[in-house]
Amino acid sequence: MFGSGQGWIDKFWHPATNLGTRGGEASLASYAMDPELPPFLSSVVTVWLFVLGLCIGSFLNVVIARVPHGESIVRPRSRCPKCGHTLAWYENIPLVSWLALRARCRGCKAPISVRYPLVELLVGLLFLACVRRFDFSWELVSGLVLVTLLVPLTFIDLEHWILPFSLTVPGIIAGVALAVPRGGEAVRDAALGAGVGFLAFRLMEYLGWKLFRKEALGGGDKYLVAMLGAFLSWKALLGILFLSSLQGAVVGVLLIALTGRAGPRSEAPPGKEGAPEKDTPEPELTMTWEFTRPGRPLWRRLALVPWCLLFQPIPDEPKDEEGEEVDWVPGKTNIPFGPWLALAGLEIMLLGPWLARVLPPQFAMLVGTLP
Ligand SMILES: [Zn+2]
Repeated sequence: MFGSGQGWIDKFWHPATNLGTRGGEASLASYAMDPELPPFLSSVVTVWLFVLGLCIGSFLNVVIARVPHGESIVRPRSRCPKCGHTLAWYENIPLVSWLALRARCRGCKAPISVRYPLVELLVGLLFLACVRRFDFSWELVSGLVLVTLLVPLTFIDLEHWILPFSLTVPGIIAGVALAVPRGGEAVRDAALGAGVGFLAFRLMEYLGWKLFRKEALGGGDKYLVAMLGAFLSWKALLGILFLSSLQGAVVGVLLIALTGRAGPRSEAPPGKEGAPEKDTPEPELTMTWEFTRPGRPLWRRLALVPWCLLFQPIPDEPKDEEGEEVDWVPGKTNIPFGPWLALAGLEIMLLGPWLARVLPPQFAMLVGTLP
């Protein structure tokens, strides 16, 4: 089957090498760990990466289910959320087990969400797309890690309206660290990407509050943008902003027209489950910089200024009479922006050169300058 010349999988996934030229990707090849893998080996590694993607997807299902609740992703072993039946290894094989079990728990016959096989397949396919885009280069490693971070962030934001720091902050560090093998310039671009992305969204957060007296952006979005900037360099930031707002706005408007909501409902807060949904009055939003509050010595105030400017929530998180934080409930027109940022990042990373070719020049500029 794998005769001399290219393996069939290699031919399918590496059209550039198929033509005997790497075209505009010469700059990528120069970073390559070993761009000229023997064809047979290249096919084997590609299949292996797909299977690895399925397995990582299976692990990410655990991340999606547990990280928002602050639970360990290592222990206990995977179990059925309904009856607590611990999964044997053969009930935990990506895709295969879900199909073999006919989407039902072997213990209690409770249905298993289609999200599990979907996440596994999605990660496997995105891994293949990364191979097609980057060949076997250092960029491929960055790409695979970025996919591994963006998939759980997307599903968690869709369900819980949060982007956990435990994923975004290590992601920012990983993005910069993974640029190291590509040289000093790549590290500089990654660090700039993280810094500029964070500051730009911090500024938008503040201006949005000043202009509209509303929380325009979720506080976690700036960490996600910083992460995307670290992986894809500052050059990708404008394109990410452009694609995410355009797609988010178009789909948001369509969803409001069709379903009356721009984003998913949040899960019911404990104790309020089953309560008839009514529009709860918005908790009152205020904004007081920590360093302007009276009763602090001057040196404390000065020390607080940089921390407040960068990290203090804008606006203040609303508190109830006892001083407890009030759960934020998404309104009908709120859009979870994280998934749109993630989608735009993946589009820029995987389709950037193609988008630059097919879009009119003024838009191509946004997506064309890529790491
Ligand atoms: Zn069960």
